[in-house]
Amino acid sequence: MLKSSRWNRQVCCLPREKAEQAIWNRLQHLKALKARRPQARAPLRIGILGCMAERLKEEILHREKLVDVVAGPDAYRDLPRLLAVAESGQQAANVLLSLDETYADILPVQTSAGGTTAFVSIMRGCDNMCSYCIVPFTRGRERSRPIASILQEVKMLSDQGVKEVTLLGQNVNSFRDLSEVQFQSVAAPGLSRGFSTVYKAKPGGLRFSHLLDQVSRIDPEMRIRFTSPHPKDFPDEVLQLIQERHNICKQLHLPAQSGSTRVLEAMRRGYTREAYLELVRHVRDSIPGVSLSSDFITGFCGETEEDHQQTVSLLREVRYNIGFLFAYSMRQKTRAHHRLQDDVPAEVKKRRLEQLIATFREEAARANAALVGQAQLVLVEGPSKRSASELCGRNDGNIKVIFPDAELEDAAECRAPGRAQPGDYVMVKVTSASSQTLRGVPLCRTTLSRAAAAH
Ligand code: SF4
Repeated sequence: MLKSSRWNRQVCCLPREKAEQAIWNRLQHLKALKARRPQARAPLRIGILGCMAERLKEEILHREKLVDVVAGPDAYRDLPRLLAVAESGQQAANVLLSLDETYADILPVQTSAGGTTAFVSIMRGCDNMCSYCIVPFTRGRERSRPIASILQEVKMLSDQGVKEVTLLGQNVNSFRDLSEVQFQSVAAPGLSRGFSTVYKAKPGGLRFSHLLDQVSRIDPEMRIRFTSPHPKDFPDEVLQLIQERHNICKQLHLPAQSGSTRVLEAMRRGYTREAYLELVRHVRDSIPGVSLSSDFITGFCGETEEDHQQTVSLLREVRYNIGFLFAYSMRQKTRAHHRLQDDVPAEVKKRRLEQLIATFREEAARANAALVGQAQLVLVEGPSKRSASELCGRNDGNIKVIFPDAELEDAAECRAPGRAQPGDYVMVKVTSASSQTLRGVPLCRTTLSRAAAAH
């Protein structure tokens, strides 16, 4: 799958220029609506919330006076006051970043349309300072939500019948709950082998492996995923837990960004190509059959044809199931903006991106073809977009699976035969595969625990 909209953009590790242009266009459209609004009706108020608001506050407020309210990612609690200011006819803004705001006591509703999947935010911000990235400037420093509040939200979602939860954060596996000081871990697990950071990790606190352990115990019928992690934070205990627990999906996002050690150094990613490949080998040894996804940026400052070929060869060597590939666009405030030159011409970036996409597709098609003939457990999301007589869901590896909507036996024989509904687990035998989708025939309805026991 290429550029899935399902979860990666929820975290938005790399806010893009194109997305911002779309927002400027939308603002023009809203401005026209506002101007046409009959006087008898309450006036429209236009607000921009989140990273873009923080990054471009001055421009947003002053460019053609398009916007009434500007609220940064840490200012949502201030919205009632900001709206009150806007009601008085003035522009209102708060883009202050906080060192400790995690919105732990606010439980947002983030379920999918069918109510089968949900996203739970577990941490905010990032300390990594990759040279191309504006997240540390727009989302602020890393801070984690207390574990107790995360568990409460996951339990609530389980009670509502949600069958899959994705734990979200800019750097999800750097999670460290420092609020529970009485339970501080004695020896905090270190970085993945061959990885380094530009900052000193905070000591103590409850780590991601502890959270994952606790979350996966809440509901044995609920799948757990997480994104977006940094490759530096995959200690063995996290990998072991993923392997052992039947409800933690055997699917990892390992954002590589480039296959060239020289470019990785310029990006300040804290690893070499060799260390990354060693991690991939270790992950595959620890979690047999794991499905891998990654992010790549092509045309970063100083990237040569040789560097590009290194990325092509990394795509071939790892053979990801899912990929998110982008051409580099320089962002203000970043280290690259201050110290490097965006010197790869646009047409070269375009050509390299096309090559990466073609390579990724070829390899993903091969990786997915290896699943043909296998039975895959699919969590049903609803009817397929293309045909009302087919259902669509995802396997453990997060790959889309399409199959006919037919009457099915229940493997546990505790339900009468019937058609699968959103939220049901169905065992599907894969009959064909492309780079993005698997197709198959449904075998039976079952449960996550039963399928794991039979495996
Ligand atoms: S890890 Fe790097 S790319 Fe990801 S949010 Fe942090 S600074 Fe940005």
